Amino acid sequence: MSLGSLNWVSRFLDDTPGDAVVGGASRQVPGACWSRVKPELMPDTSIRLWSAEMAAELGVEVADAGYLGGSKFAEGMDPYSQRYGGHQFGTWAGQLGDGRAITIGEADIGGEVLELQLKGSGVTPYSRFSDGRAVLRSSIREFLCSEAMQHLGVPTTRALSLVTTGEDVVRDMLYDGRPAPEPGAIVCRVAQSFIRFGSFQIHTMSGDYRTLRILVDHTVKRHFPGQSSDTDEGLIEWLKEIADRTALTISHWMRVGFVHGVMNTDNMSIHGLTIDYGPYGWLEDFDPNWTPNTTDSRSKRYRFGNQAQIGAWNFARLLDSIAPLMEEPERLYEALEFYYEAYQEHNGRMWAGKLGLEGFSAGDEGLVTELTSILQRAETDMTVFFRLLSTIRGPDVDHLRFAFYNEDTIPEDEWNDWLGKWWDRVNEEPDQEKMRRANPKYVLRNWMAQLAIDAAEKEDYSVAMELYELLKRPYDEQTEFERLWFNKRPEWARHRVGCSMLSCSS
Ligand code: AMP
Ligand code: MG
Repeated sequence: MSLGSLNWVSRFLDDTPGDAVVGGASRQVPGACWSRVKPELMPDTSIRLWSAEMAAELGVEVADAGYLGGSKFAEGMDPYSQRYGGHQFGTWAGQLGDGRAITIGEADIGGEVLELQLKGSGVTPYSRFSDGRAVLRSSIREFLCSEAMQHLGVPTTRALSLVTTGEDVVRDMLYDGRPAPEPGAIVCRVAQSFIRFGSFQIHTMSGDYRTLRILVDHTVKRHFPGQSSDTDEGLIEWLKEIADRTALTISHWMRVGFVHGVMNTDNMSIHGLTIDYGPYGWLEDFDPNWTPNTTDSRSKRYRFGNQAQIGAWNFARLLDSIAPLMEEPERLYEALEFYYEAYQEHNGRMWAGKLGLEGFSAGDEGLVTELTSILQRAETDMTVFFRLLSTIRGPDVDHLRFAFYNEDTIPEDEWNDWLGKWWDRVNEEPDQEKMRRANPKYVLRNWMAQLAIDAAEKEDYSVAMELYELLKRPYDEQTEFERLWFNKRPEWARHRVGCSMLSCSS
């Protein structure tokens, strides 16, 4: 079956108010949740990456560059861009919206409706001063990372395809006044919906509570079966579910060492999915203060160790935006409190997995604090460390040596001391099976994605394909790939753009 023969519906367009104008120039679109818009015609689209798994889930076998490159539409597809706002780096930014993403439709695949969106397919009324395009490098990063996250067990939007457009796109990659042409690309991404915290905020901020009400009712009815938006109780319960999903996803990020990089409220999925893969990165050296995003290098608002707290801040902005619908808005504190409780719960479970404990008790907090502190004492690779810990035979740091960037400088005594405490805590029998399911052997390290990009820019997609396959089984040994990909960051990647530094320019 091809994409064209899916059962296309448009529940979002049917349920919520939209823009009367189709397409058109960048502008403010008050009162609307969306604008109809057609993707731009690209000179030469060809499919480069394809997620057979995502395709199977949709029931699609044929990869058709027409649909995936935005030049062909089937009966029932009604393309649009979503309007939303957001707090960027803590400041209200007003209307943002899908500046380069166009939803081609919602596919009812029986039992589930999934939204398909083309990212990088041209300008929309929300493009502001930008070109509506995406470059190959960032599209490869989005494709590989969203599929990798899925297999790591982290809630995420998915990727179906990556198409090159045959067009050059100019980007100033480091914002240093040296713009250069790069190949353009389009990723087709898939999710229950692409509704964000900022989708609600935009209406509240402009005092449009009528549209806010309609969007909330739509979201609850279509995406949160079992919840109701009719009463304060209903809204609180719904918000608690969002809190729980958000906290769970962030606890997974902390487990696998993922740093989102731009946790603005427009990049927070209402489903708690990891969304908008931009200047994200993976911890190699365990450094909670690290962020890959050069745009955030001064305040490091979105650093690894701050993500749970930012989740709370963003969730509080969502609560603010729902307040006008509440008879007793002060009850919203209950939902915020719940976020912290939920995070604590997920965080405990996460650490129990990483350390092979049967459960996490208050006494274990000290063990974790001590561990994360020693991990920072000398440069230590997070992924390698926890994977080796999952196979250790006794409390001896020798087994972990491969995780250290410089073996000579490690605090050996402290390590053996901590390992001893942990060993006692688990009665000399850590649940290593559980540990291997919590501590992936392979993640999409920054330099791995960069190698895939370097090759793809020379029209060689084999590295990207190899990584896509490898990362389908991140918890398996896959010893044949060990030498290449189960490795600390190589020296060449330490200061290389795209590996240690990324900007929002994509
Ligand atoms: P981000 O923080 O990367 O998710 O993007 C913030 C906002 O900028 C969103 O509204 C995007 O749609 C928009 N945006 C980013 N890049 C482009 C682009 N090349 N053209 C148009 N809009 C863009
Ligand atoms: Mg975004």
